[in-house]
Amino acid sequence: MPTTSYKAHDFLEAAGRLGVDVVVGTDRAQALARAAPGRTLALGFSRPDRGLEDILTFAAGNPLDAVVGTDDETVVLAALAAEALGLRHNPVEATRAARDKHETRRRLATAGLRTPPFRLLPIEGSPALAAADVEYPCVLKPRFLSGSRGVLRADDPASFVSAFARVAAILREPEVAERGQEAARHLLVEGYIPGGEVAVEALLEKGALRVLALFDKPDPLEGPTFEETIYLTPSRLPQAVRTAIVNETEAGCRALGLREGPVHAELRVHASTPWILEIAARTIGGICSRTLRLATGASLEEILLPHALSMETESLVREDRAAGVLMIPIPRAGVLRKVEGLDAARAVAHVDDVNLALPEGAELVPLPEGHRYLGFVLASAETPGGVEAALREAHARLRFTIE
Ligand code: ADP
Repeated sequence: MPTTSYKAHDFLEAAGRLGVDVVVGTDRAQALARAAPGRTLALGFSRPDRGLEDILTFAAGNPLDAVVGTDDETVVLAALAAEALGLRHNPVEATRAARDKHETRRRLATAGLRTPPFRLLPIEGSPALAAADVEYPCVLKPRFLSGSRGVLRADDPASFVSAFARVAAILREPEVAERGQEAARHLLVEGYIPGGEVAVEALLEKGALRVLALFDKPDPLEGPTFEETIYLTPSRLPQAVRTAIVNETEAGCRALGLREGPVHAELRVHASTPWILEIAARTIGGICSRTLRLATGASLEEILLPHALSMETESLVREDRAAGVLMIPIPRAGVLRKVEGLDAARAVAHVDDVNLALPEGAELVPLPEGHRYLGFVLASAETPGGVEAALREAHARLRFTIE
């Protein structure tokens, strides 16, 4: 896992409960030494061949039973290592395809699945020329980033040209250019898919998709930037639409070649018909997986680790409880000076936790350039409506002073 991961605590806690010994491979082992004392291994992430060598050297003296990549930055390396060690894994090329939004679109289209028109544009090319040649509205995005970073909607040539410049500038940031390499030299333009948005959290076992949670996103996501806010499960969509979403996700996994392990898929539903936005071969971001523990009693990580170890996964029968998370977006750029209302927000009925991700003094960068949230609110109740009301009330009680 990268040191920027939010997931260390939940994975380590699940491993502890399952009695599984863990070593955390990370880009800067020192930074995680406190979370996982004596159990960290420094890995080169930017060069998968190096990272693989590091893991194989370690495994020669310390036999491994599973290798799990927790975040986007590590899923390909984990698949490479698991393949080399003969452990349960996704095909490496499928994890690469899922990491690349252009390759994802290509494979979905080849498989005959619904996908908007799409094409790659070199960031050194002329945006004015391209602007005259695309259909509107459209969405411009990097091929390989996540968390809606660098994703912008354009409705006409003028907003296309300015969006192009912003996305290109993000792709030229040294850290982004270094990470993306060749993929940072182009941006992807695709047709805007109207409709509400959902997320599917699932586990692939020998190619079969077992859905763990289907989330509604009740806030409209219509651009020009796309900050995620609320995820609610169970979904309030009609059964027939939910079935169509699951079938489309499974077909999308097949199109990408994914077969084993966690899947986090995002889809749009337009006129009751699902369209895949993307499928990631990892768990849901941030600490949002905690909604599953609230809804089902078992944590997502407690289900994934036995799967990776080729053990029986416990039965995934859900409890009858609704749960949700609100990711607190960064409202504007500046320095976070003060957070107030934390106790009042935690006191809202049905709120389980309010977790701040950034300390006072932190520099805040909103989307599309930024890629963090101020924090997370978690809630559970009898109904999704009760969860949603609790999340909104808690958010309203929080005040962030930004200078
Ligand atoms: P990321 O991996 O950074 O989350 P996505 O491609 O999933 O990037 O895009 C982020 C968000 O932007 C999506 O959740 C969706 O709300 C919006 N979005 C992206 N592509 C489209 C599209 N073609 N049509 C409509 N909305 C889109």
